[in-house]
Amino acid sequence: MSSKIDLAASIRAIMDYPKPGIVFRDITTLLGDAVAFRQAVDELVAPYQGLGIDKIAGIEARGFILGGALAHQLSAGFVPIRKKGKLPHDTVRIAYSLEYGIDEMEMHVDAVKPGEKVILTDDLIATGGTAEGAVKLLRQQGAEVVSACFVIDLPDIGGRKKLEALGVQVRTLVE
Ligand code: AMP
Repeated sequence: MSSKIDLAASIRAIMDYPKPGIVFRDITTLLGDAVAFRQAVDELVAPYQGLGIDKIAGIEARGFILGGALAHQLSAGFVPIRKKGKLPHDTVRIAYSLEYGIDEMEMHVDAVKPGEKVILTDDLIATGGTAEGAVKLLRQQGAEVVSACFVIDLPDIGGRKKLEALGVQVRTLVE
């Protein structure tokens, strides 16, 4: 039987990045560790096997890395959700709240079809503002957001509860 490793130990904490007072949870160390990366992907996809997931939507930028791997494992398509102005074709756009202020994110207008089953992914959920915006964008285009999954949850900040209040099941690996 293969033993599981402690994924939390493969994530690096960077103090005061990108500004004083923030502890940045850096998953590049997890991604760079073949065993940890595979285990994280396997644990994230396991509950979604056999659900007929059509697409994985990944939030720029670390959600692209996880989302590509999840999409491959689930034989699903991948949809990039990006900061405004980065996608080449016609887009739909939504404003979302950051810790201080607001920003806008975009998705291609034809990225999802009505009724498609989609899982949203990103490396980390903090306030949940980013994921909330992505859920709204996907739903506006008629997608069914089956679940949202993240490697890291910062539970004291409340993002999970925010998504659950929208009726989205949330799955995370590490607190
Ligand atoms: P939020 O919208 O507050 O849930 O923030 C989530 C987004 O910001 C994700 O795309 C994360 O990559 C990033 N983020 C927020 N806080 C951190 C943190 N402490 N460490 C690493 N990434 C973070």
